[in-house]
Amino acid sequence: MTSAVVVGSGPNGLAAAATLAIGGLDVTVLEAAPTIGGGTRTTELTIPGLLHDECSGFHPLGVDTPLSRHVDLGARGLRWCWPEVQYTSPLDENGRGGTAVRSCRSTAAGLGDDEASWSRLFGRLDTGFADITEDFLRPLLRMPRHPFKLAQFGVPAALPTRWIARSFDTPEARTLWAGVAAHAFRPFGAAFSSAIGVALATAAHTYGWPVAEGGSRAISDALAAEVRDRGGKIEVGITVTSLDQIGPADVVMLDTSPAAALTILGDRVPARVARAYRRFRYGPGAFKVDFAVHEGVPWLHEPSRRAGTVHVGGSYEEVASAEAAINDGRMPERPFVLVGQQYLTDPQRSEGRLHPVYSYAHVPAGYTGDATGAIITQIERFAPGFSDRVEATHVRTTTELSRYNANYVGGDIVSGSNDLRQLLFRPRLAIDPYATGVDGIYLCSAATPPGAGAHGMCGFNAARAALTAMGRTQSSRH
Ligand SMILES: Cc1cc2nc3c(=O)[nH]c(=O)nc-3n(C[C@H](O)[C@H](O)[C@H](O)COP(=O)(O)OP(=O)(O)OC[C@H]3O[C@@H](n4cnc5c(N)ncnc54)[C@H](O)[C@@H]3O)c2cc1C
Repeated sequence: MTSAVVVGSGPNGLAAAATLAIGGLDVTVLEAAPTIGGGTRTTELTIPGLLHDECSGFHPLGVDTPLSRHVDLGARGLRWCWPEVQYTSPLDENGRGGTAVRSCRSTAAGLGDDEASWSRLFGRLDTGFADITEDFLRPLLRMPRHPFKLAQFGVPAALPTRWIARSFDTPEARTLWAGVAAHAFRPFGAAFSSAIGVALATAAHTYGWPVAEGGSRAISDALAAEVRDRGGKIEVGITVTSLDQIGPADVVMLDTSPAAALTILGDRVPARVARAYRRFRYGPGAFKVDFAVHEGVPWLHEPSRRAGTVHVGGSYEEVASAEAAINDGRMPERPFVLVGQQYLTDPQRSEGRLHPVYSYAHVPAGYTGDATGAIITQIERFAPGFSDRVEATHVRTTTELSRYNANYVGGDIVSGSNDLRQLLFRPRLAIDPYATGVDGIYLCSAATPPGAGAHGMCGFNAARAALTAMGRTQSSRH
């Protein structure tokens, strides 16, 4: 039987393993950490009974993908829960802010004078977004299946974030846009810095920003169940540093950073690939604080009390300045903070009136300071009385994040800077970006297309590339 070894059990490693197992290969997954899941683990980080997502929390791009159509994750226990409000951005003015819901029309209607501008930008993309995602969830150097729709998406995506901001007049629409655009971790003046924001804002209208019932670990648990049910094995506590540890295998998938792939492959990697992996650039970092909070966060902006995600940064200008600073290697006094309230739609994560609240600040790469105070001050600014409600905290610095998971180099949670080159061609310019140049060995982590997120599409695409190279017909679950 043809055999495959997958190094790393993040959503991409497990998606690759499941796809190879469905393709008839004998699969073994080797994971460095004591538990599977990579960026999709859920743990009682603060107080027993409170379920905190350690990394990914929201999954707008995981709901309907070629992977989710190939592997029946619902049959493996994955259920999505949608918050009533998808995301918000509160402003300083008493109770004001921007609010995004799962309808472009209703979101636009809440933006006053910017109703038409929001509808013009996102309404056109909302119709047929499934076709657009099918193309951008694949490597870009392929013939698009829906070229006209992809081009429609490409026009706003190519713009700097601040150009799109100019089409909005109200502080509400401007900060709503800033919050969603900040997910790219890019300076707002950079070309293509809008791409991720445009995708996530449109996805909020089309798919919502759902959480996984019981925690994001349900994603990796479902993928792992598929692997095991098809005879695959998963071993934990094994850090792979060399191919010699793996033994003979027809296919090897590396759910690792390009830097770790270089170490594992050693001098087998062709020089041009080694150069590209060495040149691979990592982005700014994240500083994560999880809270156990009595009665939740007392936001002044009422819709934020019902939102899954709250983007905390103030006005558009403040968020733009904070993102510029972290890209410049400076820690802003008022960082951009993302707050997650997954428990609102998935109450089993709470214990009575004590709720798990998730947050991380955008900080410079490898930031060595303590951002806990800055995060609390930012939340308190829009939710006075918040700190009095905090019962316990759990902090993970950039250094701890990269120790926790080697793929988050310097605390970079998007597995490589989303600069122009890497947004379009990561980890290198190649027809098959998953190929490492060593026969049968592929990179399948979020450092490959389509990039970060717990959608598993990097692993799925890499596994399909391997199956195609072996001349295997790609059977589906049916
Ligand atoms: C704080 C935070 C918040 C996030 N929020 C979201 C979100 O809301 N939505 C979303 O979609 N995404 C989010 N992400 C990003 C998402 O988690 C990642 O993009 C995704 O997990 C990448 O999957 P992966 O399989 O490529 O790598 P990972 O999930 O990082 O998994 C890699 C695995 O490989 C293992 N490994 C690495 N090297 C080796 C080795 N040499 N030997 C053995 N094992 C190895 C690691 O231990 C790890 O388990 C977030 C990430 C973080 C950290």
